[in-house]
Amino acid sequence: MTPDELAPRIKSGERRALARAITLIESGREDHRAQAQELLGLLTDAPGQALRIGLSGTPGVGKSTLIESFGRMLTDEGHKVAVLAVDPSSARSGGSILGDKTRMERLSRDPNAFIRPSPSQSALGGVARRTREAVALCEAAGFGIVLIETVGVGQSETMVAEMTDLFVLLMAPAGGDELQGVKRGIMEMADLILVNKADGDLKPAAERTRADYAGALHLLRRRPQDPEGFPKAVAVSAVEERGLREAWEDMQALADWRREHGHFDARRAAQARYWFAEEVRRGLLARLDRDPAMRARMADLGAKVAGGELTVAHASTEMLTALGVRA
Ligand code: GDP
Repeated sequence: MTPDELAPRIKSGERRALARAITLIESGREDHRAQAQELLGLLTDAPGQALRIGLSGTPGVGKSTLIESFGRMLTDEGHKVAVLAVDPSSARSGGSILGDKTRMERLSRDPNAFIRPSPSQSALGGVARRTREAVALCEAAGFGIVLIETVGVGQSETMVAEMTDLFVLLMAPAGGDELQGVKRGIMEMADLILVNKADGDLKPAAERTRADYAGALHLLRRRPQDPEGFPKAVAVSAVEERGLREAWEDMQALADWRREHGHFDARRAAQARYWFAEEVRRGLLARLDRDPAMRARMADLGAKVAGGELTVAHASTEMLTALGVRA
């Protein structure tokens, strides 16, 4: 199907057309890339901005169970929900933590939901672009809520936080000292911490953990983009579907407040600027990689730097001049 044929089908919300379009943007072929760009260009006038929610948590914390419950709660309310996964492990090993077909079985059969597992691409940069473009496609197809799920490892969390309006961290009930292990940077990215598995025997531990996180969040500097009371820690049970409505109300309250105070659009604008600069950087690096003469020059200068013949400053200036980046 050509971009001209795909675009109206996507706009009318056809899930198969959406799936095909995402396959197109995931392709590494140059002609596919050109078609993908054309398609995205045809969809810029599509209505509605989705609320983009990032969700991160380590394997086993209950992400798929939560998305299944939360997603169905949202579709029951009449929302159209898209779920995209970003899984850095799939790039490394070929196997995916998030790609398992049996996950979110009921939600995947829901006509108002669309679920897309992580692509297996080698570089996080490629995954970032694919995910951003997939978000745009989902929005054009009328999905009002886009959830971007990622595992809590490495840079993928930062990447997801850079392309979402809200960032939710899913945590397990923990013994008191485990809390220390959560990286400060991740705590600072979170708008909402959900402590999952607040049910049965785990309930008291979940409540203690929630209080610990609430205390830790309170110690962080108040961010200008937050109203009173945020970021927040809430106990939920994905299995018993408890606390999910409250969590959704918190997300909406936060998004509304940010919209009213200009932070919502400001964040999107900053993100657009960031990804534009990223793409340019990536393009420059790709050019360096593709050109054999430039690669040889790079290797040669690298050897000279390693051997102490040239300083880093001199060698990099020479290289950048060769690339035409510096006069
Ligand atoms: P993911 O790897 O983060 O996607 O985690 P899963 O959703 O696959 O859940 C991992 C395990 O935790 C499964 O055995 C789930 O049944 C269990 N689990 C998920 N949510 C809850 C919950 O709210 N309460 C309890 N008790 N177990 C849960």
